[in-house]
Amino acid sequence: MFRITAPLAHRVMRHLLACTGALSLLAMAQPAPDMTPKQVGPNTWYVQGQAALGSPANQNFISNAGFVVAPQGVVVIDGLGSPALARRLVQKIAEITPKPITHVIVTHYHADHIYGLQVFKELGAQIIAQQDAREYLNSDTAAQRLVASRTELAPWVDENTHLVPADRWLTDSTTLELAGESFVVERVGPSHTPEDLAIHVPAERVLFAGDLMFAGRLPFVGKADSGQWITSLDRLLRFDVAVVVPGHGAASTEPRKDMVVMRDYLTYLRTTMGKAAKDLVPFEEAYGSTNWSTFEPMPMFRFANRMNAYNTYLLMEEESLRGR
Ligand SMILES: [Zn+2]
Repeated sequence: MFRITAPLAHRVMRHLLACTGALSLLAMAQPAPDMTPKQVGPNTWYVQGQAALGSPANQNFISNAGFVVAPQGVVVIDGLGSPALARRLVQKIAEITPKPITHVIVTHYHADHIYGLQVFKELGAQIIAQQDAREYLNSDTAAQRLVASRTELAPWVDENTHLVPADRWLTDSTTLELAGESFVVERVGPSHTPEDLAIHVPAERVLFAGDLMFAGRLPFVGKADSGQWITSLDRLLRFDVAVVVPGHGAASTEPRKDMVVMRDYLTYLRTTMGKAAKDLVPFEEAYGSTNWSTFEPMPMFRFANRMNAYNTYLLMEEESLRGR
């Protein structure tokens, strides 16, 4: 007769856990990250993601989302990093207003801002974004990113998580009347991404800056056009607002100061890496001999700075080849 001995049962259990993803089970046992909406205008709130890399423990809650309770409905800015997070945001909104969510404006199509979009779409909200996102949406990069995220962010991003294109693609800056409220939508890309949008809500004196501004932490510059990014920050500085809600980090009540930090960081990257690229100094050497002390104390420095410097080095090489 075959009997399952204790060690065997243990082994079987371990094997099962490995198959179903022990990490996923652990992640599900963790408390959900705090998502208390913070009010930044008479009818405007946002929820703040953690200053961390996306992980099963934080459910990919590493970016912000905002919402405006307009006369006829709720307009959401960005879709968060997983469907579970989006469902929680829907709940949080329902605790504030019984009005339906009518629109979602996407500041840009980076994974941590869009994996929750399907939840809003299912609720009947119209998704609005800038049309240059279509190239990324249809790219192998986006598909591969999603495949990788299904493993790295399991069980929060899984086989049912999919990319959601906009229902309404914008070409240029425009003012939209949504749910009875005016939204000034500024095309500020290509900066952080080709499709960057910033959303100004004049009646609320709030600006949603997307990833053009990171407050209190270093940004991921990625393949950004940092020259254009600096120009766009200058444009955003012209809006008369009381609060800026960035894509990551706390809302800023000193938008000028925070945007200037962003601009200084990008400028410093361009100056130091630009000189190294021009003098044909290899990247490693240039990186090692650059003084980073101004930015070193900022959160995300150790995750982001080296990659930011490297991407800027490549960009500056390219720009000098183009004779810019
Ligand atoms: Zn982001």
